[in-house]
Formats: sequence, structure tokens, C-alpha cells
Amino acid sequence: MNDTLDMTITKAEQSRLTVTDFSQLPFGKVFSDHMFIAEFDNGTWGNLQVVPYGPIPMSPAISALHYGQAIFEGMKAYRQANGKISVFRPEKNFERFNKSAVRMSMPEIPKEIFMQGIAALIDIDEKWIPAQDGYSLYIRPVMFATDPYLGVKPSDKYIFALLTTPTGAYYSKALKVKIETEYTRADDGGVGYAKTAGNYARSLYPFAEAQKEGFDQLIWTDAATHEFIEEAGTANLIFVINGKLVTPSVRSTVLDGVTRDTIIQLAKKAGIEVEERRVSVKEVIAGIENGSLTDAFAAGTAATVTPIGEIGYQGKTYKLSDPATRTISAGIAKTLNDIRYGLAPDEFGWNWVV
Ligand SMILES: *Cc1c(COP(=O)(O)O)cnc(C)c1O
Repeated sequence: MNDTLDMTITKAEQSRLTVTDFSQLPFGKVFSDHMFIAEFDNGTWGNLQVVPYGPIPMSPAISALHYGQAIFEGMKAYRQANGKISVFRPEKNFERFNKSAVRMSMPEIPKEIFMQGIAALIDIDEKWIPAQDGYSLYIRPVMFATDPYLGVKPSDKYIFALLTTPTGAYYSKALKVKIETEYTRADDGGVGYAKTAGNYARSLYPFAEAQKEGFDQLIWTDAATHEFIEEAGTANLIFVINGKLVTPSVRSTVLDGVTRDTIIQLAKKAGIEVEERRVSVKEVIAGIENGSLTDAFAAGTAATVTPIGEIGYQGKTYKLSDPATRTISAGIAKTLNDIRYGLAPDEFGWNWVV
């Protein structure tokens, strides 16, 4: 990598490690001792710091709050079998972060700040990376507009931060999901492919409505016709139909997931045929009914590989095969985990050993 950047490091006076219960880790609630911050001002990034995790004083007029210039990412660091720490495919997250930045008229972050920030934070908070099977340290990059100015225009000032949170599995059981045909997550020409705050805000109400009906997650459909399956809103969707891996193609309304891409590559390598194309609701329902659809799962960094157990569509519930019988997704999930934890050869060079 490039030269080492200048960075101020301020250590926390007291670590919270000893008062943290690693057997109880609800996703995203427990933060490690430190965070990384960089500031954008006068057209450049600077003031790189590792500081104790905590509040940042800010004006309530900052434009992120009013007009939504806010983007984020999500990746994980794993404690490998040999004790080394590795981050899974951070360059993909870096590239996607800057794609999101461009779409939201925000400045791109230089690669060395992104990568060296991660390395510095992991170095200082290494003990926060859990060793248990299935556990990891979730890394959350975020950038938001900090101009205290109420005019609608791209902000001149931004903060980039890296937060880390030790985590176990996000979903622990097979999901009951609802195919959403009233509300939409993203539309053509919009910002669905960006990891930007508003995409998640707009999904909260439909999600809450679905939860009231007993669902764990939504399957979003296309805004124009509601006939095609897009994704789950925090994870991509993958089906096994007639023995082939079938997944909605990436488009402006579907986020280009790192986990999705990884699974596609692993499946191809294992000799499984992969189809990236439009996937209709009709096809999925028919596949469940005639038995050609043998597996369905959500794939994402936070969600990992989570089987879908039941699908609700227009008031009817369709039960899928018993997750315990699904050899294709279970096999891929195991290979993926083994690579992350250094238990299988990393032939694709996905692990970035810090
Ligand atoms: C983060 C995210 C995913 C999953 O992407 P990964 O890179 O696999 O974590 C899928 N859809 C949306 C909308 C997301 O925000």
C-alpha cells in the first residue's frame, strides 16, 4: 500500500472490554473502545484520528439531517484459526462506498484513508474481535454532510467515520418473508444501488406493517409492475431452481452485494450453474408449488446466509423445504465461512490480513 498517513491516536482511558458480555451481542448495539474519524473541508480530506468511541458535537442544522446526504458500508473482520485477523473483501466495500458517494454528490474517500483507517482501528481494538465460531467484528464506515446550512445543495463539509461492533449471527432461524406488492424500496433512476440512508428510512414503515402480520423480512418487488423480485433491503436474494442458482440481476434498484458476488463465484467454481436475470414472483411461487424451487436464502454481510422458510404472497403463505435438507446453500455457506476463518484455502484472495 501507499505511504503511511499521518494520524492522531488518542486512547480510551479505560477499556469497556471487561464490562462487555460477549455471549450477549445484539447486532450493532455494542461498540468497541475506539472509532476512526476523517474530515472533509476546503476540498480535501484531513484531520485523521483514532479516538475513543463516543458522541461528536454537531449543529442540528447539518445537512445530513435535513436532506439526507449520508452513506454507509458494512464489512467484517474475522479472527482466523491461526490467530491472524482478516477483513473480508474490503476493497469491494471501498469501491461501493465511493459509488454511493458519487450518486449522493458527496466527495469520494481516498483508498488509503479507508484502508489505513480500518487497519489502525483493528490494531487498537484487536481484543474486540470475538473468537467464537460465527462471530466477527462488524465494521461500519459512514459518511455524512456536516455543513450547518439550510440551503438545498451539496454540503462543503463531511465527516467520514469507522465504527466497529462485535457481532454474532444476525438472524438465527429460517426467515418468514413477505413479498411486498404495495410499497417500493427503489425505482429506476433512483438511488437503490447506493447504500444511502433514505433507502432504509423509506423501508421502515412497510417493514413494521409486515412485522405486525408476523413476517421477519420483506422481499421487495420492482416499482413499475410488482411482478419481479429485487432484493430483501439489507440482503440480496438467491434461489435454487432446478438445481441452478438463480438470483435477480444487479440493476439501479438492486444493491450489488459483496456476499451475493462471493456466493456466485463459489457456486460457479463448485460446478453449479448460475443465472443472473430477472426473477418473477410467478416463477418463484410456481417453483414452490411444483417442487422445482428447492432453496431460497438471503445473502448479506450482516445477515450472512440465512435460509428462507416461508414466503407470504397476497395473503397466502407458501412453505419451503426444510432448511436442514438444503445441501447447496449449506455447502456454499460452509465454504464461505471456512475461507473467512482461514480453515479453507483463500483461492480468490478475498481475505485482507491486517
Ligand atoms: C448491504 C446491503 C446488501 C448486502 O450487501 P453485502 O455487500 O453482501 O453486505 C443488500 N441489499 C442492500 C439494500 C444492502 O444495503
